Amino acid sequence: MHDIHILKNIFKYLQEQEDQACRKLKKVHFSISEFGNFNQEHFLEHYRHAVRATRFQGLEIAVKTIPFGPELEITGLEFAGQTSKEE
Ligand SMILES: [Zn+2]
Repeated sequence: MHDIHILKNIFKYLQEQEDQACRKLKKVHFSISEFGNFNQEHFLEHYRHAVRATRFQGLEIAVKTIPFGPELEITGLEFAGQTSKEE
């Protein structure tokens, strides 16, 4: 399926970020372009399905729709015991 590959990469990336920080992720912020292949619902549908097979089931996510920009981007990571660090 078209999006599965992207989600695999996302979880791989999140795993790497946790390993580097030696902390557990609490929340991830995504942005999705209004004019890309995804819309928010579509993304969330795939995300919720894919996350079940990972250790990130308890992770909070926030998705923001942007008028232009990259199709899908991780814009912020919050680790447990850390205050918000969003760009
Ligand atoms: Zn799809």
